Amino acid sequence: MSEKTVRIRGGRIQTPSGGAENDLLIRGEKVAALLDPSSRISADREIDAAGKWVLPGLIDLHAHTRSPGYEEKEDFLTSSRAAAAGGYTTFVDMPNVEPPTVTVELFENKRAVADRLCIVDWGHFVAPTRLDEIPKLAAAGATGFKFFQVTGGYPHDPRLAIADPARLLETFSAIAETGLPCVVHPFAQTLFESLYHQEVAKGRPGDIHTFSDVYTRDIVWRLAVAILLEVQRETGMRMQVVHTHAPGSFRLLAQAKADGVPVTVATDPKYFHLTEEDIRGQGARAIPGGAVTRDPDRMAAIWEALDTGVIDIIDSDHAPHLLDDLTLMEEDPLIGPFGSPHYEDLLSLMLTDVAEGNLRLGRLVHALTEAPARVLGIYPRKGALLPGSDADLVLVDPGLVHQPQDGQMECKSNWTPYHGRDLVGKPVLTMLRGTVIFGDGQVAVEPGYGRYISGIPQEPDRSHPAGMHPGLSLSPRS
Ligand SMILES: [Zn+2]
Repeated sequence: MSEKTVRIRGGRIQTPSGGAENDLLIRGEKVAALLDPSSRISADREIDAAGKWVLPGLIDLHAHTRSPGYEEKEDFLTSSRAAAAGGYTTFVDMPNVEPPTVTVELFENKRAVADRLCIVDWGHFVAPTRLDEIPKLAAAGATGFKFFQVTGGYPHDPRLAIADPARLLETFSAIAETGLPCVVHPFAQTLFESLYHQEVAKGRPGDIHTFSDVYTRDIVWRLAVAILLEVQRETGMRMQVVHTHAPGSFRLLAQAKADGVPVTVATDPKYFHLTEEDIRGQGARAIPGGAVTRDPDRMAAIWEALDTGVIDIIDSDHAPHLLDDLTLMEEDPLIGPFGSPHYEDLLSLMLTDVAEGNLRLGRLVHALTEAPARVLGIYPRKGALLPGSDADLVLVDPGLVHQPQDGQMECKSNWTPYHGRDLVGKPVLTMLRGTVIFGDGQVAVEPGYGRYISGIPQEPDRSHPAGMHPGLSLSPRS
């Protein structure tokens, strides 16, 4: 039986290197060819993409599906439906669940749940808190590792925090042996707590405003990044730092990259889109916004880091909570949860930045597709629209002005910190491996369509091409 063909007709294919008017011919699960629009090749089905942009399906290295243990907030079905609605075709989920994913048994239990539910391709970053489990988890197919330096209360689980230098060194050494990436949330926790208490002692209220200011202070991030980079230099582990928004961190990371250290840098848009006004109006929904967006120098540093590639990746940190849960944060920010749903708005939010001239479209496409695919070792099977790539794509209506609304989301918590904001550009159709998973405003596949993405051991490519950062210039380990 010959495989079904689909022609995406009349769109503009957007890649990191630019746009081109090409039709796309898909055969089965794969891209078969890029066609000249005048080509007479016919297909079993045509999708009209006139006036639309065609991007590779987005890949996210920062999903919190909240499963197992917190399914009242989100689960694999609802998070992947939200992802599909937002143009994502692959995500990698995080280990801060209950119980946390620290052993092969817990990893396999989690995988069995996701296999039944997830509608996008997915991977899982396990927690490397038990040294003896690290090689076993890698052998069992973990996509990579993730740990936190921030602690306090859930979702910043103290059991998953590693800050002591001796533990960092032994953990990084063990992960380096696996060739898999490790995502780290850098944070100087004890310094943060001390600075916060100093502010309160000076008379500021112990509230979310003070919390947000101190949480985003440059030294709290820069100091952690400095230590992590030194341990990385010692061990050669492939590290990805997340939530990067501090100018001091950018300086250190740019230097490490120039020195050939295989570090990749991710940021997530809430740090540089949520304002003090949002916190006043929305409370904990908008944490940790405010401190960065009111400082033009910090904003300029972020746009520059995105433009030059010091920031490689824009991840979602899709981290839903029920609105009731956030009242705890307003009562005691040192132990309350914060985090927000992002899948359904992120692409629109960032396309609005492109429309406003803050960011080049090619850089945005790279940061959402090719760069994360390279970290996972799946480029150009994913993260590209080349002959032979998986037919993973998102059609975008670039001029559509819309306002996200609470109560109209696919995510289980059904709210957005961007409620009511004018955004320009919207994903309108998402295809994963040749099948439309979201279109006409509806999810279009059954639970369990997604496939698991196993970890791929990689090492830095010593002959890396000019202009390519060492953390993205990798070869499979032989
Ligand atoms: Zn997160």
